[in-house]
Amino acid sequence: MKSKVLWIQGITCNGNTQSFLNYPNMEYLLDRYDFLYHPFLDSSLSVNEALRYDKKFDFLIVEGAVSKEFIRAGENFYQSVKKLAKNAKYILALGTCAVYGGIFKEKDPKNITGVLYDKDEEKGLLKEFKDKVVNIPGCPAHPEWIVFVLDSLKDRGAVITDELKRPKEIYGYLTHHGCTRNEYFEWKVDSKDFGTKEGCLFYLQGCRAPTTHGSCNRILWNEVNSKTRSGSPCFGCTESSFPRSNMFETKTFMSIPADLPVGVSKRAYLTVTGIAKTFHIKRLKDRLI
Ligand code: SF4
Repeated sequence: MKSKVLWIQGITCNGNTQSFLNYPNMEYLLDRYDFLYHPFLDSSLSVNEALRYDKKFDFLIVEGAVSKEFIRAGENFYQSVKKLAKNAKYILALGTCAVYGGIFKEKDPKNITGVLYDKDEEKGLLKEFKDKVVNIPGCPAHPEWIVFVLDSLKDRGAVITDELKRPKEIYGYLTHHGCTRNEYFEWKVDSKDFGTKEGCLFYLQGCRAPTTHGSCNRILWNEVNSKTRSGSPCFGCTESSFPRSNMFETKTFMSIPADLPVGVSKRAYLTVTGIAKTFHIKRLKDRLI
């Protein structure tokens, strides 16, 4: 039987909707899920009806940040979400704005928040529904991540999450895992120019992948690419610290990165870096093409 899905939008740029529409196996998805409402897909309900829906259903997907004042289709959006949340079996907070407040929270930190969390603290607007919520941060979230969560909950009734309610299968990894530049990172060969194929982007170009939880270099975008593969640093968009200023810059203190790879001590980093830099491996200094 198809699961019923209501996909509603708070304060958003549509990014997660656009990302989701790039899912390569949409036929499979539409065979398994009935979108009662989706902003872009054919739906049986209008947005007005969706926000006032009062029957039980399976998945409430909230895209975008939430505020107590925000009005959508003539309704107070926060109150609509609360009413819908009661009737939903599962709630997916989709994208960094829905999870932490994201870029919109930066503009209005007093009023705008995520569905469940306010940055790292648990004081979002739906905390009473905590047990039903799965957080899928990302700016945007990868379509495969969304479908993985939907399928896990539909088929097995559960998904293993971390302390921030993020699925471990996706966010147990760092974005650094699987990057094609890992060898440059190990030997501390830095990329000096934007957009080149060679070198690691951590030290000179602001790459946040060693401190960012996500699977962008494991589950590739459009099945072919990732930011770091195409020459752009990871901006850390799945974390509550996103966005930050100077995204192409690595903050350092006395030449040591302010944020070190997750779980790596300053001492370990300095020791390994010091040793690696004493080797000069010509192959890694040459242009690849
Ligand atoms: S570019 Fe970023 S993701 Fe790739 S190896 Fe360097 S730090 Fe890791």
